[in-house]
Amino acid sequence: MIEIYNTLSGHKEAFQPIEEGKVRMYVCGPTVYNYIHIGNARPMIVFDTVRRYMEYKGYQVNYVSNFTDVDDKIISKAMEEGVPAAEISARYIAECKKDMEGMNIKPATHTPLATNEIDGMIEMIQTLIDKGYAYEAEGTVYFSTRKFAGYGKLSKKNIEELEAGKRIAVEEKKKDALDFVLWKPKKPGEPAWPSPWGEGRPGWHIECSVMSRKYLGDEIDIHAGGEDLIFPHHENEIAQSEAANGKQFSRYWMHNAFLNINHKKMSKSLNNFFTVREISEKYDLQVLRFFMLSAHYRSPLNFSEELMESSANALERIINACDGLRDAAAAGTAGAVPEEVRANAAAYLKKYEAAMEDDFNTADALAAVFELVKYANILLKEGISAETAHLLLEHIETMCGICGIKTKRSAQVLDEEIERLIAERQQARKEKNFRRADEIRDLLSAQGIILEDTREGVKWKKA
Ligand code: AMP
Ligand code: ZN
Repeated sequence: MIEIYNTLSGHKEAFQPIEEGKVRMYVCGPTVYNYIHIGNARPMIVFDTVRRYMEYKGYQVNYVSNFTDVDDKIISKAMEEGVPAAEISARYIAECKKDMEGMNIKPATHTPLATNEIDGMIEMIQTLIDKGYAYEAEGTVYFSTRKFAGYGKLSKKNIEELEAGKRIAVEEKKKDALDFVLWKPKKPGEPAWPSPWGEGRPGWHIECSVMSRKYLGDEIDIHAGGEDLIFPHHENEIAQSEAANGKQFSRYWMHNAFLNINHKKMSKSLNNFFTVREISEKYDLQVLRFFMLSAHYRSPLNFSEELMESSANALERIINACDGLRDAAAAGTAGAVPEEVRANAAAYLKKYEAAMEDDFNTADALAAVFELVKYANILLKEGISAETAHLLLEHIETMCGICGIKTKRSAQVLDEEIERLIAERQQARKEKNFRRADEIRDLLSAQGIILEDTREGVKWKKA
């Protein structure tokens, strides 16, 4: 039984999906005006791991994660560079996808862009106006926060408390200081879309309510993001969705704690960040992934070179053990798997699962991986059969795979991919499919791989 800490209830709850065997999950994605930093990478890695575990347990996961591609920061960056806002967002979406691939994050089932969903946003805003939850004032549409009875239930804030800290700025046309923007009118030079309230663009919160409904339905199982999103973003999403749809929006709300640097939140505004790209120049991004999962997702994690170094060493230990097991499997010594080994391997896997089912405690889960690695190393020294090596390797690979951690060095993975392509080319030539054979040669040559046809077969080298 999987237990999840639900921010909404404030305690751990047994996971019960709405629809048997299925998980509907929405994770708020980044605003794309720059390379993502490693703070942004934390929710990506954490919730990708949640998804992988759910899939391991047999759930079919519909995983939706958006890109916010229209926003003040994107617009100001576009103005700075003198290019359209769409060019900035397209550029950084492409870069973000490269980083995600490096961190071995599975592509989401759906990756909607805010600018492709404007019609849905206009429709939901209109519903909110029709139901009396929103009003228009000179081209701006506001949500009447006080009309939604449950406001504050996620962030545990009450209306009076919120009211005390709020003033209406002179230029604002809202009726109540607590009201928030659903639609704002066009300013000169900004991207805008036609709407019943004049040309303009959506406020930030409405996009997630709309995309979540479109791709997952009115009611979803898990909604997730970093803890800074609890208020106001997620609180406002709940107000919009529940007011418009008349149903509970999400059953479970999961929030990761911050990635800090010198014990302060890493953020663009504090200018204390490292981009994923910068980190990739020094480390394999598998190390970053391992580092992120070495702490429980609800604990703050402080970034340091020392922790990255120890993550690199830990990962190396896993890979070395797996290489040893691969060699032992290839050596082919005959012999059945001893019962004791089978039982021990199963026990480590069980321990791993128990940690994951306790609100995805990846720190304890990885500790179970290390116990198995240590055990495998002892057995390797004693000498084991191919079958035993296979069984141990399979267990380690399963456990690492759920965490999205590869048990091979990236260079090793690349070499294997090259060899797979060469074999495919040979086959294509045998079948006289010269078009495919040439295509593969070009593909490899674009990666700087030179092929040589020799008498002993095809050899390859890096240019
Ligand atoms: P943003 O692009 O700022 O909307 O952030 C995208 C995601 O990254 C959100 O889920 C944020 O909560 C999360 N995030 C931003 N900074 C950090 C950080 N330092 N630690 C953990 N999560 C963060
Ligand atoms: Zn969101």
